Amino acid sequence: YDLRDEDLKDLHELGQGNGGSVKKVEHVPTHTIMAKKIVLIDAKPSVRKQILRELQIMHDCHSVYIISFYGAFLSDPNICICMEFMDKGSLDGIYKRIGAIDIEVVANVAHAVLEGLTYLYDVHRIIHRDIKPSNILCNSKGQIKICDFGVSGELINSIADTFVGTSTYMSPERIQGAQYTVKSDVWSLGISLIELALGRFPFSESASDDDSDLSDFEGTLSPARPVPLEKKKDKNKESKRNRRKSRGVSLQGGGMTMSILELLQHIVNEPAPKLISDGRFPKMAEDFVNSCLLKDPDQRQTPKDLLNHEWIVHAQTTNFDLEAWASTF
Ligand code: ATP
Ligand code: MG
Repeated sequence: YDLRDEDLKDLHELGQGNGGSVKKVEHVPTHTIMAKKIVLIDAKPSVRKQILRELQIMHDCHSVYIISFYGAFLSDPNICICMEFMDKGSLDGIYKRIGAIDIEVVANVAHAVLEGLTYLYDVHRIIHRDIKPSNILCNSKGQIKICDFGVSGELINSIADTFVGTSTYMSPERIQGAQYTVKSDVWSLGISLIELALGRFPFSESASDDDSDLSDFEGTLSPARPVPLEKKKDKNKESKRNRRKSRGVSLQGGGMTMSILELLQHIVNEPAPKLISDGRFPKMAEDFVNSCLLKDPDQRQTPKDLLNHEWIVHAQTTNFDLEAWASTF
């Protein structure tokens, strides 16, 4: 594809993240449906060109567990990244629509993410750096793929300059400033799997009220001491959206500041969350999540090692019908 902005017809918006927005578009000359991610980059032309060059690596990423790449181009002041459109959207959207995800599906999610991470690292020496439910996508064929991995160092830097890239899926070693390794992605996978299986973000004391607004998030923080959050009772849509977004990022401004810092402290100082089950989940699922959430990265296994975990091996032998599952929503 020789992608030019004027050949792309906007269909509708798919979602907004901290770095930009994603639209469903049609590449008119070829009638190809794509997802176009628009990232606002406040950087010099030379840096923008460098980012574009670095993104070209994505042309060489070929795996059924990785979103296909159609191309990227500059469209002042944005960078547009065109990728495979996944018609069932991201797993965060899916669980918010249909509720907690069936543990057999979660096992297949774990398998797909491990395969994707192993491919990226073994073939391209790429570490994902942003594993979370919104970056795991699903389509009506029942395929599960990861997107938004850190191919471009310059892009990571530019976004980091604009936004404070603090995510609550971050591993303890990462929060403490240690080097990022593939094992940090394994931690983020563990947190994501609990979130999918429970249907709510795991750093939470209360199991109630899982409508994905941040009442659960607030419960996270040292319950002994009330945390000055922004007005909790303000239920208008805009503020809800902002608060949801604050989960991922934003150390600046607003009453969220302390709570995010406290959450990061909590991740570093408190025991890791678990897949608490009262028998609801298979023992091997709990064990797998525990392995992902070992706080010491030296003890945590790599994605490749974890592909041999019995839960993952078992998931492959049972051949769960993901296509049928995806047709239910
Ligand atoms: P953050 O900015 O914190 O990483 P995010 O991942 O939700 O959050 P974006 O990457 O901008 O933000 O994506 C916004 C939304 O667009 C996603 O949540 C997802 O639902 C949707 N989306 C992204 N890529 C695709 C795609 N290839 N196909 C279909 N939907 C997509
Ligand atoms: Mg994303």
